[in-house]
Amino acid sequence: MSVDAPVVIVGGGPAGMVAGLLLARAGVPVTILEKHADFLRDFRGDTVHPSTLELFHEIGLLEELLKEPHAAIDTMTLNLLGQRYTIATMKHLPVAARFVAMMPQWDLLDFIARHGRKYLTFDLRMSTEASGLSYDAANRVSGVTLASGETLPARLVIAADGRRSVLRDAAELPLEDLGAPIDVLWFRVPVPAGMDMSEVALGSIDTRGMVVAIPRGDYWQCARVIEKGGFTPFEARGIAAFRNEIVAIAPGLAAGIDAIQSFDDVKLLSVALDRLTRWSRPGLLAIGDAAHAMSPVGGVGINLAVQDAVAAANILAAPLAAGADPDPLLARVQDRRWTPTTRMQAVQRFAHQRVIEPMLRGEITSVPFVVRLLNRIPLLRRIPGRILGLGFGRQHVQSPLAKDFP
Ligand SMILES: Cc1cc2nc3c(=O)[nH]c(=O)nc-3n(C[C@H](O)[C@H](O)[C@H](O)COP(=O)(O)OP(=O)(O)OC[C@H]3O[C@@H](n4cnc5c(N)ncnc54)[C@H](O)[C@@H]3O)c2cc1C
Repeated sequence: MSVDAPVVIVGGGPAGMVAGLLLARAGVPVTILEKHADFLRDFRGDTVHPSTLELFHEIGLLEELLKEPHAAIDTMTLNLLGQRYTIATMKHLPVAARFVAMMPQWDLLDFIARHGRKYLTFDLRMSTEASGLSYDAANRVSGVTLASGETLPARLVIAADGRRSVLRDAAELPLEDLGAPIDVLWFRVPVPAGMDMSEVALGSIDTRGMVVAIPRGDYWQCARVIEKGGFTPFEARGIAAFRNEIVAIAPGLAAGIDAIQSFDDVKLLSVALDRLTRWSRPGLLAIGDAAHAMSPVGGVGINLAVQDAVAAANILAAPLAAGADPDPLLARVQDRRWTPTTRMQAVQRFAHQRVIEPMLRGEITSVPFVVRLLNRIPLLRRIPGRILGLGFGRQHVQSPLAKDFP
């Protein structure tokens, strides 16, 4: 293992960028490879949860982060069978920011990149795609091969390349597919002048299906949840029928819906729910969606990815900065994150099986008891608010700030 080579992180998503920031801040040279030229990916979720905001609070950047344009949502509402229900609140969480910041993910990633670049140890390379791994004579991962044909030596490789990770395949890490019965149609609806965005609930469900509307300033980023592989019937019915169905489920979107002119304005996103049963091998650690792809249910994927990055930095930053071999420590990252991950995936599977699949079959014809209960008793709403806002097994930043760094 070459102590002089940097830690190479593949993937500039939430997991890779936060891991890069925390390691660089501890004085560990990191090179982050991101295959795209910028962070402007529309598929990225927008939710920055209280536990992620708390991490920025812990490293002194929260106030500045919250200067980025965002909508603060501390209460979750659901439009169910034509009536609005309040089902979760985050107003009482024991953190500095008791809300979800709905912030375009590219703004969050740009913010991290800006702060990372303050450290000489932080090297972010955009438009740089990893294609595989290189190994030393002892079969330890020793670097990353690039699509350009080069090989980049690495002291440690962190695979944070998302749910279609090339590196986890190259490293032959064992994958358990939990199956996801849904896909998502992703589109934008502009907010008419003078309309209050909160007039449209975050989630709207009726017998025809579900529409999610995430406020993004002058438009809603919308999602129509469909059966896995079920896009063709939608296309066959035509764009006018698609628009009509959306408005029937979420009437608040009516005034802007004509902006969807054709299916070119609608993107099909495939949902996956899986996890590696082993997250590391000598010289490589997988984190974020590369280690456990999350469903969009609850919008918790970013949060989990970031918590993995914090755990990895907590465990690895000081030993790496001191020149130690990281290999004996890699399994500890999985140990710390396994239970929070599998618990959250169990919650998502429960939601797939008990809420989304019956909904897609048109079987939700009355309001579930639990929804009525949460709506009636405000104190109870703190429970889902806590699970969504803080997740399970919350991490605090313990990785050091190198001497002489601001
Ligand atoms: C439809 C949908 C909606 C979602 N909505 C939300 C939401 O609202 N809130 C939420 O919390 N979660 C949401 N999720 C889940 C969330 O997107 C992920 O859990 C989260 O982005 C994982 O972060 P990550 O950093 O691990 O991976 P990613 O965000 O996927 O980042 C991986 C990065 O690696 C780069 N990359 C990939 N391969 C290579 C390569 N070979 N070389 C170099 N770079 C590479 C990619 O370009 C990307 O930037 C949603 C998921 C889906 C499918």
